[in-house]
Amino acid sequence: MKQTNIRNFSIIAHIDHGKSTLADRIMEQTDTIDKRDEQDQLLDDMSVEKQHGVTVKSRTVRNIYHADNGQDYEFNFIDTPGHVDFSYEVSKSLAATDGVLLLVDATQGVQAQTVANFRLAQENELQVLPIINKIDSPNAQVEQTEEQIRQLAPELKEADILYISAKTGLGVHEVLEAITKELPAPQGDEKLPLKALIFDSLYDSFKGVIAYIRVMDGKINTTKKLKLMAESEAMTTAEIGILTPNQLPVKEMKAGDVGYVVTGIKDPEKVRIGDTITDFDNPTSQALPGYKPAKSMVFAGIYPVGEYKELKDAIYKLKLNDSSLQITPEVSDALGAGFRGGFLGIFHLQIIKERLHDEFGVDVLTTAPNVPYRIHLKKDDQVIEVNNPVQVPEFKEIDYIEEPMFEVKIDTPNDSISDVMKIADRFKGEFINMDNGSDFVKLTYKMPLSEIAYNFFNQLKSVSHGYASMTSEFIDYEMADVVKAEILINYTHVDALTFVAHRQDVQALSQKLVEKLKYTIPRRLNPMPAQIMVEGKVVARVDIPPLRKNAAVNGKKYSASKKQALLRSQKNNKKNAARNEIQLPQKVFNSILELD
Ligand code: GDP
Ligand code: MG
Repeated sequence: MKQTNIRNFSIIAHIDHGKSTLADRIMEQTDTIDKRDEQDQLLDDMSVEKQHGVTVKSRTVRNIYHADNGQDYEFNFIDTPGHVDFSYEVSKSLAATDGVLLLVDATQGVQAQTVANFRLAQENELQVLPIINKIDSPNAQVEQTEEQIRQLAPELKEADILYISAKTGLGVHEVLEAITKELPAPQGDEKLPLKALIFDSLYDSFKGVIAYIRVMDGKINTTKKLKLMAESEAMTTAEIGILTPNQLPVKEMKAGDVGYVVTGIKDPEKVRIGDTITDFDNPTSQALPGYKPAKSMVFAGIYPVGEYKELKDAIYKLKLNDSSLQITPEVSDALGAGFRGGFLGIFHLQIIKERLHDEFGVDVLTTAPNVPYRIHLKKDDQVIEVNNPVQVPEFKEIDYIEEPMFEVKIDTPNDSISDVMKIADRFKGEFINMDNGSDFVKLTYKMPLSEIAYNFFNQLKSVSHGYASMTSEFIDYEMADVVKAEILINYTHVDALTFVAHRQDVQALSQKLVEKLKYTIPRRLNPMPAQIMVEGKVVARVDIPPLRKNAAVNGKKYSASKKQALLRSQKNNKKNAARNEIQLPQKVFNSILELD
């Protein structure tokens, strides 16, 4: 395809505004997939995506569009995720495109992620095609939505806005035409040395690391020797191709094309997202700017339920497909060898856990999440950064502690303002500003990240019946009165349960936690005390009751099989109790998370 007829673009929008549905319509009205293969939401094929009904990974697909002017166009489009935890995915995919479709739901209007994604597009200097979706809905407020879009930026004041229903297909043809007319063709020069951006990658158990690339300049084929610039790693590729969305091998790709490269590299850590692929013998002088590394917001321990080696293998392969996941090995006395994971948010942590299960068959225990702390020590004015509560030093050594503070912007319908303000207050939000819209209000707070990480988003959704949305942005570290709480079970310190809390809350939290431990720590033959220590003092204590003695099985009106089952479970209980170590099932860690 000649470069002037190529269009590389993304669809960006707030969650649920209809990106995946529009992607399906575009695929239907262009040449890519067989009609017989059609099912709803063709692109959301990852099992976690089906379960949560959201897009987690960006997808790339090539389509051929037969335009009204008689010409064929090659469309490479990337469906991007909308959840706040995944804006890193969005920014990665945008660097591989030349334009975006900005999709806004007419029943909801411009929302927090609409604005955030639009700003990302502006930073990448991308052409924006504004589209209002769901005009078939009786709740559509097309004029207000149009007004909100025009307010976003001066260049949108005069822009042509398209009106569609991704659900019925109304107006989708006009979108396809506008893509050919309004969005720019790629600018690269195929005569220059090869310069290809790796914007995503995945691990294939047969082919090894597969990199998704956008060729910026030059040509790539399977005969030349190549080089990864950041790693100075030489490679040859046995296969390059395009995504339909399935992999379809081709002989050559040139400036402007989007596709995949089978790198032949087996070590997932060698292929970095944002790296540049160039010719080994005729390299480009300058690598592409690449990506800012994602900043982890919350951390949690990840420990194997089964074999450590299997977890290790799986987690590095998963990281290849999700470069926002940070991983370092760690060892816990209670749980053995595992990893400390750094995540973009709590939802990200949950998705990682589910992907390990779904894609690699690996089950893990995750400890209660925590935020990073900056600790100023008395000795030599040393400052340390700690992302595991266990590493917080003895209180006597600490001068003071700082915690990360965020600016939180909440969009909420008028009728839930007072409830939203109540919970923001409860999560230690410091009120900054309120902006009244017609139906929605924008509230701005300053809030400790530790509070945002603990369930704030869920509570916000629940008090607003799902309508409120939020974005948050790091401000700075600020001094905080926080303390480390350590947990002893049967007088043994259980390191993996250590947590950090604000001093004013620690007493109440500890009391609630021991009450929960009473029911979640597996029982033994003898009662065991569970104690929580803060700064050398016990602040809460409870006795975990012992296992019941043999329940009289005979003489009760149980069926024979029920009696068998009871006897078996009693035998197992005794066997477990005889072991010395304390068992920590996942629900023990969840009880720390669910203290609210
Ligand atoms: P995404 O999160 O942006 O990918 O949104 P989806 O494509 O998953 O759509 C979210 C919901 O909106 C789904 O229930 C869709 O069926 C619905 N939806 C999408 N487009 C339209 C539309 O044009 N009209 C109506 N009435 N519903 C739509
Ligand atoms: Mg989607």
